[in-house]
Amino acid sequence: MSDIRGAEIIVRGIVQGVGFRPFVWRLAQRLGLFGEVRNAGDAVFIHAGGTREALAGFVSALREEAPVLSRVETITAHPVAPPEGDGFRIVESGAGAVSIGIVPDIATCPACRAEIADPAARRFGYAFTNCTDCGPRFSIVRGLPYDRARTTMQDFPLCDACRAEYEDPQDRRFHAQPIACPTCGPLLRWTSLAPLPDAKRDDADALSQAVAALSAGGIIAVKGIGGFHIACDATDGTVVSELRRRKHRPSKPL
Ligand SMILES: [Zn+2]
Ligand SMILES: [Zn+2]
Repeated sequence: MSDIRGAEIIVRGIVQGVGFRPFVWRLAQRLGLFGEVRNAGDAVFIHAGGTREALAGFVSALREEAPVLSRVETITAHPVAPPEGDGFRIVESGAGAVSIGIVPDIATCPACRAEIADPAARRFGYAFTNCTDCGPRFSIVRGLPYDRARTTMQDFPLCDACRAEYEDPQDRRFHAQPIACPTCGPLLRWTSLAPLPDAKRDDADALSQAVAALSAGGIIAVKGIGGFHIACDATDGTVVSELRRRKHRPSKPL
């Protein structure tokens, strides 16, 4: 196998917390490369071995097929000895690794929206569905490097099904730090200060409680990942006036 070469490739940009290492892993499988990928500082380091053609294809694909949330700024590659062994592996972030360039929270992606709408999916109707391509990032970070133990999700240990997704490089939730499901993740909860007509304190049905409150002329606060949204029926002059009174905003647009 004298035509096997080695390359050290450094990709810089927003390449952490965006599914970049699993992307590299899948690409390496496709092109028959061996070696490893690891996070380091603001970069991803790859030590890869394969034919000259495969390595060249790999470097172009790193830029052309990069995950949607990543932003590749530079790719440098230089020849080194091929890695030892065979297969391609993802190396965990070592102690002292610094992760910067955390991406903002990203709206639910089409694949996750399809799952939420699919009665057969285990995340059917689940408000906190997310994956490597979407979901919270910046607003859940408590420390660096970015991994689940340093986010507000650390209080929600993964169930077996979520852990299997988290650990499977083929899965689109591989190493997606905020992943959750109705079994292990946060749930919607309804609380009411002043009981509304027929308001039941039924946390299991928080969404319909909120809809009922809005329909009954109530004002609700929806606590999301990064803050609160105040909501009421904008076509109901009475409740809009009440909201203006409470917010001390008699005339400015809300
Ligand atoms: Zn998603
Ligand atoms: Zn779960």
